[in-house]
Amino acid sequence: MKKKTQLIHGGIVGDQFTGAVSTPIYQVSTYKQEGVGNFKYEYSRTGNPTREALEALIRDLEGGHAGFAFGSGMAAISAVMHLFKSGDHIVLTDDVYGGTYRLMTKILNRSNIDVTFVDTSYPEKVKDAIQDNTVMIYVETPTNPLLKVTDIRKMKEIADEHNLLLAVDNTFSTPYFQNPIELGADIVLHSATKYLGGHSDVVAGLVVVKTEELAKELHFIQNSVGGVLGPQDSWLLIRGIKTLAIRMEQTEKNTQEIVAFLKSRDDITNIFYPGLPSHPGHDTHKNQATGFGGMVSFDVGSDERALEVLKKTKLFTLAESLGAVESLISLPPRMTHASIPRERRLDLGIEDGLVRISVGIEDAEDLIEDLKQALDA
Ligand SMILES: *Cc1c(COP(=O)(O)O)cnc(C)c1O
Repeated sequence: MKKKTQLIHGGIVGDQFTGAVSTPIYQVSTYKQEGVGNFKYEYSRTGNPTREALEALIRDLEGGHAGFAFGSGMAAISAVMHLFKSGDHIVLTDDVYGGTYRLMTKILNRSNIDVTFVDTSYPEKVKDAIQDNTVMIYVETPTNPLLKVTDIRKMKEIADEHNLLLAVDNTFSTPYFQNPIELGADIVLHSATKYLGGHSDVVAGLVVVKTEELAKELHFIQNSVGGVLGPQDSWLLIRGIKTLAIRMEQTEKNTQEIVAFLKSRDDITNIFYPGLPSHPGHDTHKNQATGFGGMVSFDVGSDERALEVLKKTKLFTLAESLGAVESLISLPPRMTHASIPRERRLDLGIEDGLVRISVGIEDAEDLIEDLKQALDA
């Protein structure tokens, strides 16, 4: 089945009891048992039909063994980290999502889970970071906000050499453009709050695992730790995912036009977009994904100018988050990445004037006009 068809027909479609074409919202916490221990569902933390339909859908879209839905992307990432124990070591992409950085350095450090952050776009650096107690390589590609690209197949080679798990945060590319399990990953994570939901109306996280063994462990963790997604939000995500293909294609088309506009201006010093042939990760990304997505960062020169631009845009809404139908604009050093110390931010290349946009599905001409008036002001 092709991706566009799978988005509509994947997973568990409709309702076997009523013939309803859309999966109903099973707003229920517990289920009648025919006799003690004789039941299909027991309790909604353990399993809920609406959540299961979503979990089956993301499993099919990522081509894994099983899918799991959580109350946020961070709950999904935390559940995956519960696979490990004190003394284990994980190698992560250095400019991972700020919340992931915080989880690893402020929460999981309390359980003596050890981490090394490296620029995973250089495989040699990943090799050098591996220790005797390393258990997983965890990458985000492309990254936020610099859109750095990591070669997933190369990570798989390194993981195999050292018998490590490979996890990929696939939030930016979505399963429509990139399928990490096909490229060798064991675990795929999503902040479904972003493109999968796509309408800025739900916070959710999804995980897909490759093997039955990992599926058993993660289900045990999901049920034990308990950060599950509720039936209403599960339904909203299923609804959002149905239009992922047309949204991603429109977003990318708009983004290419906006990038061309930004390139034409000499008051913008740096543009970060993997679709630009000059982007260092362009070829790698092209080899592992079918689209470049709708996230772009660019340097307007200073913090002051960035603040002015953010004040002036009208169609680009000043907000955190990304991946929805409406275009958003943000200032990573002051917003999403504010929890990272300035010195470390500058080391990573996140300059004070770095503006990030998440391009929506509005008319590209209007979006360009909006950016133009903000930059000219
Ligand atoms: C937003 C985001 C997360 C965290 O997801 P939440 O749904 O906000 O908890 C994780 N990874 C990436 C790449 C993100 O953009």
